Amino acid sequence: MSAPDMKLVVVGAAGRMGQTLIRTIAAMPGVTLHAAVEREGSPFIGKDAGALAGLGENGVAITDRPLEAFVDAEGVLDFTAPAASVAFSELAAQARIVHVIGTTGCGAEHEAAFKAAARHARIVKSGNMSLGVNLLGVLTEQAARALSPDAWDIEIVEMHHRHKVDAPSGTALLLGEAAAKGRCIALADHSVRVRDGHTGPREAGTIGFATLRGGSVIGEHSVLLAGEGEIVTLSHSATDRSIFARGAVTAALWARGAKPGFYSMLDVLGLA
Ligand code: NAD
Repeated sequence: MSAPDMKLVVVGAAGRMGQTLIRTIAAMPGVTLHAAVEREGSPFIGKDAGALAGLGENGVAITDRPLEAFVDAEGVLDFTAPAASVAFSELAAQARIVHVIGTTGCGAEHEAAFKAAARHARIVKSGNMSLGVNLLGVLTEQAARALSPDAWDIEIVEMHHRHKVDAPSGTALLLGEAAAKGRCIALADHSVRVRDGHTGPREAGTIGFATLRGGSVIGEHSVLLAGEGEIVTLSHSATDRSIFARGAVTAALWARGAKPGFYSMLDVLGLA
């Protein structure tokens, strides 16, 4: 007999990703929407989560009480904001459940809090939950390892919709980390996040980032490896947010049977 459906809570339920997650849970086997949470003061509190996501009523009213929503839940899908994700990770640790974190723009203090919560919760965190981008990360690491930093410059270019609040994107940073890993260097010591004015020539061995914002672009990423007389470009285009939502649900189902700990999508996809 197959396991009963995994009971999932969507936090940030009225957001772009929150609504996509609600539609994806309804479409995927093995999972069910247990509760939907929004921030205090949200105009969507009390509204039906299914109706808001365009599915028709599903009887799950959006609440601003995560503690109650987590009772009897098995997992939390979280694409919100850094401070909110830290608070949810503490509740997930208390409840000993799965916490899938897609939130980007997190700093060192947030990451430390997630790692502390992962002593009791099963946390899967990734700046990008799609199979394609995680594969692109593996390819970027291999390319960076193969091409000498003295002769090849690495630049990461990304574009997102006008509402995005953090830069570079979590995915651009994920790709930068992959390139740094391939070169056996620390990204923090070698990244160039901004260029403006008289910058002087490019320093060999650095990894540059360029950020574009506008319109409704879901996510475009390119890693350029520029050598003397040739350029290799590795790129990914997201044309539908459901790729991230399907990845998040897949991560929750994978973590259901895992030990408490801090995992990435590479673990989930068997690419680690
Ligand atoms: P959004 O602004 O549309 O949605 C965020 C929602 O979270 C909002 O509805 C907001 O009210 C809610 N929220 C904020 N604080 C909350 C709290 N304390 N409790 C409950 N709800 C709260 O943003 P979005 O486009 O859906 O993106 C959300 C996050 O996910 C961003 O950090 C984005 O970069 C990231 N993201 C990650 C991936 C990935 O694959 N990892 C993919 C897409 C987006």
